[in-house]
Amino acid sequence: MKCPFCASTDTRVINSRPSEEGAAIRRRRDCVNCHRRFTTYERAQFEALMVVKRSGRREPFNPDKLLEKLSIACNKRPVTDKQLRAFAYGFEDEVQVPEISSEEIGARTLAFLKGLDDVAYIRFLSVYRDFDSVGRFIEEIRELETRGKKGKAAPKGGRPPSLAPARRAESKVEQAPLLSPESFETDGGKN
Ligand SMILES: [Zn+2]
Repeated sequence: MKCPFCASTDTRVINSRPSEEGAAIRRRRDCVNCHRRFTTYERAQFEALMVVKRSGRREPFNPDKLLEKLSIACNKRPVTDKQLRAFAYGFEDEVQVPEISSEEIGARTLAFLKGLDDVAYIRFLSVYRDFDSVGRFIEEIRELETRGKKGKAAPKGGRPPSLAPARRAESKVEQAPLLSPESFETDGGKN
């Protein structure tokens, strides 16, 4: 095990004990080179999560791509990089399935953004769902607004619920970088 501080491979285990109710083993380690200490966890894990794309093609899940889509949706929003990273890099552990459709990844991402930031949610929604009309899209925004008024699902420390946030949201959608629905598939057609 490489030391995360000095990259030396000369480290030793000081103690090992079960963690997470036996689902993991926690090992306290000491670096022989720099003498700093760190902890490692050993867990059983599924083989790499596979994404089933619309075409039926499968490919390994790539958290970096998910993080990229999230970062675009959350551009200039009061959302921390840490929150987005936790979601993207925790995604595989969270779903606990061997494979998942790209639509399901989109749906889970929407659910995550809904509780986090309305504008980011709407940006993501606008490309994720194939709205058949502008009216349907506005309807969705109104629903969001209604929930805000009832005080339900309002983001913590968020703006006071009023008409203003939704209007701002609409104009932000126009300014948001263009994403095609295909871009939610984790490789973005590249790699
Ligand atoms: Zn070290």
